[in-house]
Amino acid sequence: MSEKQKYTPGVMKYIEEAKKFLIQREEHIARIKKLKFDTIAVHGLYTAEEALNQNQGAVIEPLYLSTAQAYRDSDEMEAALAHLIPTWCYTRFANPTTYYLEWVLGLLEGYKTGYDTSCVVTASGMAAIMLAVDSFLVKQNQGPERINFVSSIQIYGGTFQHFSVRKMKERGIEVRWVHDQEDIEEWKAKIDENTRFLFSEAPSNPQQAFCDVKTVSDLAHSWEIPFIIDSTCATPALMRPIAYGADIVIHSLTKSITSGGLAMGGALISRKPIITKIKNDNPLFKESFAEYIKFFPYRDNGPAASPMNALFALNDLRTLRSKMDFLSQNSQKVAEFLSQHPRVYQVDYLGLPTFPLHALAKRYMKLVDSDDGKGNEIYRYGHLLSFRVDGPPQNARKAFDNFKIILRAGDLGRIKSIATIPAISTHLQQGEEAREKADVPPQMIRLCVGAEDPHDIIADLDQALCSL
Ligand SMILES: *Cc1c(COP(=O)(O)O)cnc(C)c1O
Repeated sequence: MSEKQKYTPGVMKYIEEAKKFLIQREEHIARIKKLKFDTIAVHGLYTAEEALNQNQGAVIEPLYLSTAQAYRDSDEMEAALAHLIPTWCYTRFANPTTYYLEWVLGLLEGYKTGYDTSCVVTASGMAAIMLAVDSFLVKQNQGPERINFVSSIQIYGGTFQHFSVRKMKERGIEVRWVHDQEDIEEWKAKIDENTRFLFSEAPSNPQQAFCDVKTVSDLAHSWEIPFIIDSTCATPALMRPIAYGADIVIHSLTKSITSGGLAMGGALISRKPIITKIKNDNPLFKESFAEYIKFFPYRDNGPAASPMNALFALNDLRTLRSKMDFLSQNSQKVAEFLSQHPRVYQVDYLGLPTFPLHALAKRYMKLVDSDDGKGNEIYRYGHLLSFRVDGPPQNARKAFDNFKIILRAGDLGRIKSIATIPAISTHLQQGEEAREKADVPPQMIRLCVGAEDPHDIIADLDQALCSL
């Protein structure tokens, strides 16, 4: 059945018009792909031409707060709602401002990976995680099925809750925890034919756990299942897991990507195609997973990002590469100071050569488009670290309470230095046993180093620790 037989000439006219637009967009994207990371981050898809011809010359992408799109006539409406032409239709389905953010994130995450990508932006990081995993947790047979998935236990507290309560307790889906995600044998031992995907977070919040991204991807693919990785703490400026075989990358845009701290958001970016053995009638499921999510589960479940938040993220990420470089350098100085401090018995930071996972992280964490003068990329490890204060847990609380510049909040990824005690905040709900397994003791302070002068942050830490 051809489109011609099914649709009126009026609808066909719109389809032809859309084809021309899509060819032009493809050519435009091919040109963008030749640009460097920073240039893509600054401009994304928005051109001077578009500014002048469509947006009164506005140099910044326009903010479309409208909930819905109007159509010229019934033919255009039919073509749009049958997905025959690009359309945004309704802000729960898509939005022109969010569109710019989706494209730029897809391009940055796919940068120099050798793969095309697609991206869907969501209201929060948790929404992106839910959308990523749910599509693989569907029944495949009539009879009883014991579905499982394998995940590192060293993950964000909210993700741990989502997996252990929403999936395991409420839906009876077995979550098989990997305790040492750098140990490939442990991953291997947990997989069977009912495993739907592997999930990891690297570097993990707060422990700085890390996995061998390539080996875990290869293992997943040998079972014909995808590897999903939450790479919020790295951002595409420091690591692009798709280059090593990861199928789906998750970001909480709320964190370093929108470091200004004014917006919530999440992103799901998929490689084209992904590896999965799940049967799905829609070819997009495999070929362009993020687009599939956007057209269907996202539309039906309603986790759309607000366009305003999308614009905040878009505006903050223009300088992502230089920001992650700078914040990583500040963190390195702070971590080195803390590791020498008599009141501190352990510092977990991937950038410290003494940290057990340093060598593994060094294979993956590099500042994109950097050069050390010898043709190698420069190593950078992000701005999240944690340290453990000597003595009973009250000591950690006392030092924490004495911070003068560093803010006490359950937040991270900020341009401002922020600290928390995970055991009484982000990881409170897990309970003591799970915290012990995940190595989150009450002596641990998580610190996300901001863009202040590092000397001032070091002085603040020193006075707080010396108050003990
Ligand atoms: C914060 C965070 C999330 C959740 O993101 P929200 O935007 O808060 O929903 C997921 N993963 C990691 C690593 C995070 O730090």
